[in-house]
Amino acid sequence: MVGKKTLFQKIMDWEKPGDILYEDARCVALRDINPQAPTHVLIVPRKPIPTLDDLTEEDASLVGHLFLVAQKVAADEGLTKGYRTVFNNGSDARQTVEHIHLHLIGGRKMSWPPG
Ligand code: AMP
Repeated sequence: MVGKKTLFQKIMDWEKPGDILYEDARCVALRDINPQAPTHVLIVPRKPIPTLDDLTEEDASLVGHLFLVAQKVAADEGLTKGYRTVFNNGSDARQTVEHIHLHLIGGRKMSWPPG
């Protein structure tokens, strides 16, 4: 049986609405529905990898690509003073969607450590 599509696959396949800013053959960048800062974008690989623990060597260039897309989106969003990139992984980190996604957050001064 083919696994159920993740929320992000449904958005990529235009089965659910999403505010997509960028897409290419390997990933999509969309605005987070519950933004934590003026810019909050999720960079999501088309490949539905559930968690970082499921990454394999063959995904190395894909993960690097997600960061290059984050760099491009940050420039497009005018985040000249910096930004944060985060993968929440697993329940302790409050990962809620089991399809890895890089959060790109910026447009305000942030605190550290994160809660
Ligand atoms: P995480 O908690 O790291 O798994 O991040 C999941 C993110 O997806 C959260 O920041 C949510 O606000 C966001 N999210 C949930 N549903 C949607 C949606 N339909 N469109 C865009 N972002 C969403």
